[in-house]
Amino acid sequence: MRVLEKAPAKINLSLDVLHKRKDGFHEVKMIMTTIDLADRVELVDLPYDEIRIISHNRFVPDDQRNLAYQAAKLLKDRFKIRKGISISITKTIPVAAGLAGGSSDAAATLRGLNRLWNLGLTLDELANLGAEIGSDVSFCVYGGTALATGRGEIIQHITPPPHCWVVLAKPTIGVSTADVYKNLNINSIHHPYVEGMIEALKIGDYDQICNLMGNVLESVTLHMYPEVANIKDQMKRFGADAVLMSGSGPTVFGLVQYESRLPRVYNGLRGFCDQVFAVRMLGERNCLD
Ligand code: ATP
Repeated sequence: MRVLEKAPAKINLSLDVLHKRKDGFHEVKMIMTTIDLADRVELVDLPYDEIRIISHNRFVPDDQRNLAYQAAKLLKDRFKIRKGISISITKTIPVAAGLAGGSSDAAATLRGLNRLWNLGLTLDELANLGAEIGSDVSFCVYGGTALATGRGEIIQHITPPPHCWVVLAKPTIGVSTADVYKNLNINSIHHPYVEGMIEALKIGDYDQICNLMGNVLESVTLHMYPEVANIKDQMKRFGADAVLMSGSGPTVFGLVQYESRLPRVYNGLRGFCDQVFAVRMLGERNCLD
């Protein structure tokens, strides 16, 4: 048997860090939304009890460090499944980019194995399991648009953004999320107005969504990698309506309302960055169907 799952990337329209918790995690408040840039995860039964990862991408581990491997292991252990599985991951989402590529592959593996092994788990149950793998996995199980709180695993679905385009540009550097959090000075944060963003989404106010985009990790990554600031400047110069770094970076995304303006932003960025994408926003809840 063979099952195929789409594993789309996310961007953060808003990312706030409230404080560092006793367990070492940071308490966050983020608005995440799915975009039309996806890896493909193919799951095929193996005749022997093994988890095999195939990715053909030198930045993606093919052993227990892979988040998709961890997802399969978690389900095997929890439900005492003694079957083998081959997980083939076709990467499109840049690695270590702030787009939750690994988390989405893990989420796709959870959804796919739930089907393949007839486990009958609900999305909520899969999201709870996903939280054991990583904070972003819960959101990726559902896709859509959500307010994520706690360490990112408490998901509340909210109104998706109105239709628009997203241009993404990733410089060649990869950023470690742990390093960015280590360099974050919690006392000098300029907090984004997350509730205002939720309201702007609710009434579909595109201009207000653009005005309220904010990410407290941005200044940390910009300080570590000044080239990210340059990409932001260029994206604004080429006509994106609003520009922000996603997650801990280094990917910068820009929103573009009108398709006619898309080629200028996309082609402009291609001169500065080797990985540039122009995709649709895909924040509706049924985006994984
Ligand atoms: P986040 O936004 O959730 O912090 P990210 O988009 O910045 O994540 P990933 O692409 O998930 O980062 O990769 C981070 C690291 O995770 C990589 O350097 C890689 O070693 C490891 N990794 C584990 N599994 C995967 C996977 N399936 N795809 C990509 N990287 C993976």
